[in-house]
Amino acid sequence: MRDGSTHVAARTAVFNESVIREMTRLAMLHGAMNLAQGYPDFPAPDFIKQAAVNAINADVNQYAITWGAPRLRNAIAAKTKRFSGLDLDPDREITVTCGATEAMMAAMLAVVEPGDEVIVFEPFYENYVPDAAMSGARLVFVTLHGLDFQFKPEELRAAFSERTRAIIVNTPNNPSGKVFTREELQQIAALCQEFNCLCITDEIYEHILYDGREHVSIATLPGMYDRTITISGLSKTFSVTGWRLGYILAKPELTNALRKVHDFLTVGAPAPLQEAGATAIEQADAYYGELRQMYTRKRELLLSALREAGFRCHTPEGAYYIMGDFADLGFAGNDTQFAHHMTEKVGVAPVPGSSFYRSGEGNHFVRFTFSKSEETLQEAARRLAAM
Ligand code: GLN
Repeated sequence: MRDGSTHVAARTAVFNESVIREMTRLAMLHGAMNLAQGYPDFPAPDFIKQAAVNAINADVNQYAITWGAPRLRNAIAAKTKRFSGLDLDPDREITVTCGATEAMMAAMLAVVEPGDEVIVFEPFYENYVPDAAMSGARLVFVTLHGLDFQFKPEELRAAFSERTRAIIVNTPNNPSGKVFTREELQQIAALCQEFNCLCITDEIYEHILYDGREHVSIATLPGMYDRTITISGLSKTFSVTGWRLGYILAKPELTNALRKVHDFLTVGAPAPLQEAGATAIEQADAYYGELRQMYTRKRELLLSALREAGFRCHTPEGAYYIMGDFADLGFAGNDTQFAHHMTEKVGVAPVPGSSFYRSGEGNHFVRFTFSKSEETLQEAARRLAAM
């Protein structure tokens, strides 16, 4: 007989709970330094916090316009123009969401038909799997190989077909630290045009770049704006991951569809925080450079601690993660066992590499984040040295 009281939809069976957040729980249980979940454990800049307090005191407490407070959309438009040259209409091409997480889900639900294929590079950010499952997409994986995470052009091409609806790009990349070069993005763009499909690009780490690397938005390449949905947000740039401020840039025809999804998913992002977000972007000109310097120091600290402990690591070009290859450490067990061992016995919690892969290529990796205070990283370095 049908058990109506315990039935859950099949779409929930094809993905699991977040491994990243599970590792956070495990880190807390064992008193480990949490280098698993990528969020800052240090304060957000004062100018943005004060703006949030001011907005609440000014009673900005009711729903903002569903697609985003005008001041925030205007600030995003001005910033986008300055950084990428794209001249967008804030009323028709910019949508504010509850974080980049909602942005990605709304984008997928708005453009993907059940059964469509969506290409994703692995290692991938874990959200893309449930995003695909809930929108009915079939994911097609293209592996970024080796310690420096390069795709093979022939494997990329082979992933495209007439069933391809979209390719997901994430640059700077979580978890690999790869920043896609202009040439790589041009190859992806050419295939999007040849196969007449969309590019959904997650650029949440756009301001976290190292060694003079350049962030290229694929939407700026010739012929790409009309077929690109660009996602970003304030969480990582302004160290406010809990504020849930993301946004989507897309041409009006695409924006209309994803705004409808967004409206009925969440109505909108928190109104007072949107005002603070507008202030943050309006006043951030000098801040972006400081952000890069701060993360460059943190990257050096963790990178040298990991290398001294015997991990092989590619130097991240952007974002705030390091994939550590532990194959040389002589651990008898898989990446999940190793991540648990690190958390329980070493006191430093990473994320198992396999949670970023569909193939087995991630089994010798664990991911560490350096979006942590100097003290947290120093303590983690001491524990790694004692490994
Ligand atoms: N993006 C962060 C990470 O990869 C946080 C993930 C999350 O918990 N939402 O660690």
